[in-house]
Amino acid sequence: MATHLVWFRNDLRVNDNLALSAACRDPDARVMGIFIATPGQWRQHDMSPRQAEFIWQHVQSLHAALAQRGINLVIHEVDNFDDSLAHLKTFCTSHNVDALFYNYQYELNERQRDAAVEKMLGCEVICQGFDDSVLLPPGSVTTGNHEMYKVFTPFSRAFIKQLHEGLPECVSAPKARGAALETQKLNAFDYPRKAVDSTLFPVGEQQAINQLRQFCRQPVADYQQQRDFPANDGTSRLSAYLAIGVLSPRQCLHRLLKEHPQALEGGAGAVWLNELIWREFYRHLLVAYPKLCRHQPFISWTDNVVWQQDEAQFIAWQQGQTGFPIVDAAMRQLNATGWMHNRLRMVTASFLVKDLLIDWRLGERYFMSQLIDGDLAANNGGWQWAASTGTDAAPYFRIFNPTTQGERFDAKGAFIRQWLPELNDVPDKFIHTPWLWAQKEQLTLDYPQPIVDHKQARIATLAAYEAARKSE
Ligand code: FAD
Repeated sequence: MATHLVWFRNDLRVNDNLALSAACRDPDARVMGIFIATPGQWRQHDMSPRQAEFIWQHVQSLHAALAQRGINLVIHEVDNFDDSLAHLKTFCTSHNVDALFYNYQYELNERQRDAAVEKMLGCEVICQGFDDSVLLPPGSVTTGNHEMYKVFTPFSRAFIKQLHEGLPECVSAPKARGAALETQKLNAFDYPRKAVDSTLFPVGEQQAINQLRQFCRQPVADYQQQRDFPANDGTSRLSAYLAIGVLSPRQCLHRLLKEHPQALEGGAGAVWLNELIWREFYRHLLVAYPKLCRHQPFISWTDNVVWQQDEAQFIAWQQGQTGFPIVDAAMRQLNATGWMHNRLRMVTASFLVKDLLIDWRLGERYFMSQLIDGDLAANNGGWQWAASTGTDAAPYFRIFNPTTQGERFDAKGAFIRQWLPELNDVPDKFIHTPWLWAQKEQLTLDYPQPIVDHKQARIATLAAYEAARKSE
């Protein structure tokens, strides 16, 4: 009887899991699972304690879901990737593993680790990898010259064309392979964890599926109108599940098309599909341009920008104390919940880079250290987009005005008031400029004055980028 080992990483689910499904295809094989926590690696990449908790909760549910199917999931902990190689080798030898199944991860360190694993196991263990966390494999959506697209819109067009030619299929959860196993008490890994608000992010694969179904029934059709207003619950909030693989993008696509078959033709749901394609775009970019994984800018000359080293301003931004209400409310949402609305990720990132002229990489790291949905590809892509160092088609002189962004997307300040109770008494008219109200009424607010003058900051930033471009 052959022994198949499934190495779970960012794919903590039993439904539509390509590696798990392949490992279970032979009905006679003995199937086991392994999850190797690597806290040293997580520390190096500032994984947020909320995401660590979310992973921990889902490792436990996966353990239970597999046990019900007669598959044992063992949880091990080593410090870093090098240790995980040796560990895997010993495990395969002691359990007579014939074949190892895993789903690819596209970050550079992870790809190098997987290559080392394949080399180390040699011909003793057959290794099979799968493109599971994407709709279409990196490298499969390219220009006529077989190169990766450098801007999103043509990538998206080519992507949709390929989906028209054939949709990636979902695979079912494996059937039980024997009597259910007893679940064991698992030891939590040695990494700081922080409580997750279960009303925002209920635990479990079924919960994620329910949330997807509910969102695709109606909200997805209103997504285009609702998605930019942070006070409305207009987006899916599925990112936390997608980031650790509790949900797959194929499940999202199929559910969307079941409810809105015209989404591929630009009908209802098309705008949400476009966001799923942004996710793919950033993953494909990581593989085509591995320097992104080393946090190097996509546009090389932007490395010459001379950044400000203002610790006090950086801390004010982190803590939501900049004096710009929409920025501060967003940062407090992030700090309190581990999630931030997409519009506000753009606004806060733009503020750090283009108003404070602070290196985007510091913001990128800070986001990773807080986000429950932290994902290198999407986070790096988002930060480079906001900093104009990346693949954005718009030039670097696009600079968001934090006050007008607030006025456009949170006109009456409903979102701001939710996170900045100290501004509750400020009339709607002044909610984006409370300092003017305080001046007018001769009051002292328990809220900071703006830490920069946006107009001056804009001029300084344009000059810094221009100087960097000229020094190319
Ligand atoms: P929805 O609007 O419902 O979108 C559905 C799914 O599509 C999301 O769950 C996500 O997986 C994907 N998606 C949506 N927008 C984007 C996008 N612009 N780029 C890539 N994928 C997208 N997303 C992350 O998942 N992890 C991150 O670490 C992350 N960091 C970001 C940092 C910055 C500076 C910016 C501007 C964006 C970042 N995003 C990140 C993208 C986006 O903000 C989030 O995916 C989105 O807010 C998650 O909410 P949702 O699930 O309700 O999204």
